Formats: sequence, structure tokens, C-alpha cells
Amino acid sequence: DSGQTASYIKLDEEWGAHNYHPLPVVIAEAEGAWVTDVEGNRYLDFLSGYSALNFGHRHPALIAAAREQMDRLTLTSRAFHNDQFGAFCRELAELTGTEMVLTMNTGAEAVESAIKVARKWAYEVKGVEFNAAEIIVASGNFHGRTTTIVSFSDDPVAHDNYGPFTPGFVTVPYGDLEAIRAAITPNTAAILMEPIQGEAGVIVPPSGFFAGVRQLCDENDVLMIDDEIQAGLARTGHVFALDHEDVRADLYTLGKALGGGIIPISAVVGRADVLGVLKPGQHGSTFGGYPMACAVGRAVVDLLSTGEFQARSAELGRYLHGRLDELVGKGVATVRGRGLWAGVDIDPLAKTGREVSMALRDRGVLCKETHERTLRIAPPLVITKDEIDHAVDALAGALQA
Ligand code: PLP
Repeated sequence: DSGQTASYIKLDEEWGAHNYHPLPVVIAEAEGAWVTDVEGNRYLDFLSGYSALNFGHRHPALIAAAREQMDRLTLTSRAFHNDQFGAFCRELAELTGTEMVLTMNTGAEAVESAIKVARKWAYEVKGVEFNAAEIIVASGNFHGRTTTIVSFSDDPVAHDNYGPFTPGFVTVPYGDLEAIRAAITPNTAAILMEPIQGEAGVIVPPSGFFAGVRQLCDENDVLMIDDEIQAGLARTGHVFALDHEDVRADLYTLGKALGGGIIPISAVVGRADVLGVLKPGQHGSTFGGYPMACAVGRAVVDLLSTGEFQARSAELGRYLHGRLDELVGKGVATVRGRGLWAGVDIDPLAKTGREVSMALRDRGVLCKETHERTLRIAPPLVITKDEIDHAVDALAGALQA
């Protein structure tokens, strides 16, 4: 790598904690589906900040909302009201067909909040014995990096050496309804799952699985918590990935794209009688629901309310998957996913995910491996058909390189 890029990377490595292994590209500017590095090279973004950039980089409506808000009011804390919070909550609830919104900042915080709410509901409403509440989770899950959340991760890289761990979680194989049925006890407060497992490699569960989960939840007075932080907000062609299954959860967690790639904002949305267990002082966050985040979040909800991005994802997703399927047997073992979202398993006899990511970078496309041999593809939803062709052709070349 040439001088400028190398010197920025050296700075990162010298002064930044080494908790990531980025591709060696240093981005300085971006617009829409494209980013430009410090040397003026342009790349097509095929990752979208892990789905935080569903609307592309610097969508004009989102930038305008952020600018306008910044010129008026940035932060109040929740010690006082502000003129953005309530409107954001109402608009997000209307978009998602839910009754109430709890605002936080990051995805992990939204998941933590949902866990806290589910436990409190179990004790105060369901009548579970004090400190005995259980939450059923899936193997291969990824819900964030806090101590409680990594307590129930089965990925050793995320989990190991962070103990002692938070108890109260029961893991079952993802997609296995019978295992859930067997794991439910009178102490079960909730089932927490991703509708499609993102970090695990864009794993789509068997059809009918979530309808079965819903039924088990109803029969056993258990909350269904759907983590839509990566899968939601138009990524798969609907507001929620769970909408493909015609199933409603009791609580949903949202993050990433909710802040339009501009601001961290997350939320738990769902039933008012469940979120209603939180009383003043029992939960909160200094920045949660701050005016900047609410203003950008309102503009995001506005973009989603037309259905345009959902439709783009569905239509272009079909095209993307059609093109990716052509690569099976040509360096690709399998392709999974939904909408503009794909997990591409590299043929074990071919290359590692990292090698393919590097070869793709050299061809002007940025994406990132997850685990050893899976590429996760999640372009901004503003991408065009021609750009998809460009990227898939680059991938075909990278696999042969
Ligand atoms: N939940 C899911 C499904 C995710 O994919 C992620 C992040 O990748 C998170 C939660 C955590 O979000 P954050 O990194 O904002 O804490």
C-alpha cells in the first residue's frame, strides 16, 4: 500500500485499540453507494456499515435533517422534554405498527434494554419466581458486545475471558422449533432471536419457524423479542425481516439504519403493556432520544414510509441473488439471504473470505468477510442494477484471481 494509506494505518495501529482487523483502505469521503479513499480511489460500498447505511452515504434528506436540528438544539437530556422526541416515537410506532418506543443509542443497548424489560415483565406481570427468569436464545447469535450479551454468545472470539457471565440464558439451535418447545419452562420470560442471523453469515431459518415460535410464545405466556438491528428497516424488502413470515413480535430491537448512518440511535419498540413496566428512574440513557437523534430518526422513518426502499431492496435483491447464484461452482459454495443481503460461502478449496475481500478491494468494491469463509454482502439500498453488475463481475474476478 502506498505512502498515505500506510501512514494513516500506522497511526490507527499505534494509538487505537486493536479490536478490529479492517481492510487496508482509508476512506475520506462518501456519497450514495460510493466511497473515496485518501488517495482519491473510488470504491463501491458493498457492506453499508453493517446495514447502518441502508439509505447510502449522506442521503440529502438525512443530512438536511441533521443540519437543521444542529442549528436549533442538540441535547437536552431527558430531564426536560424536547420538541423532537414525542414526534419521533409516534412516527416510528406508526411505521412499525407498534404501540410504544424506548429510545437508546446503540444496538447492544437496545438488546440490553429488551432483556431488562422482559425480566421485569416476567417478575411483575407473569409472576416468575424472583431472579429465576430465563431467556431462550439461538446458537450462532449475535446481539452485541456488552457483558450480558456476550454471556450467551457461543462464538469463542466474542465470549471467552469476559466472565463471570450473566446467568439466565438458555441456548437452542437456531431454527429448531422442537428444541425451543423442550427448553420452555414456567420461568421462561422471552425468546430472543434474529429473524435472519447476520454475523453468523446471513442465515435464513426454515420457513414457518417463526410462526411456530409465535405459537409457542402465545401458548406459554412468553415474550417474543425480534432483533431487527441488522435485518430490519428495508434491508430484506420489508420494514422488518420478520414481516416475510407474517408474524408479529412483542418487542423489536432496532438500531444501525435508524440513525441513517449519521448518528447512533437505537430503540425497543413494541407492546405498551410490556414496555410499560418501566417507571420513571428505572432505566435510561443521557443521549437516548436526544433531539439530534430524533430529528435524523424522523427523517429515516419518513424515507421508509413511502415503501420505496423496501421495494428497491426486494427488486434489486432478486437481481443480486440471481447474479450471485451464477457464481456457485465457480469459487462459491452457497449463497443465502433475502433482499439486498447475502451471505456468500467461498468454496473451501478456493480462497479465504479475507483473500477475496482484498482482491475485491483491488477491483474497487468493498465488503468484509464474516468468520473464515463467508462474505457478507449488503449494499446501500440506493445501489443501481449496473452497480450490482459491476460488483458481481468484480467478485467473479476476485474469486479467480
Ligand atoms: N444485534 C444485531 C442483530 C446486530 O447485528 C448487531 C451488530 O452487528 C447488534 C445487535 C449490536 O449493535 P451495536 O454494534 O450497535 O451495539
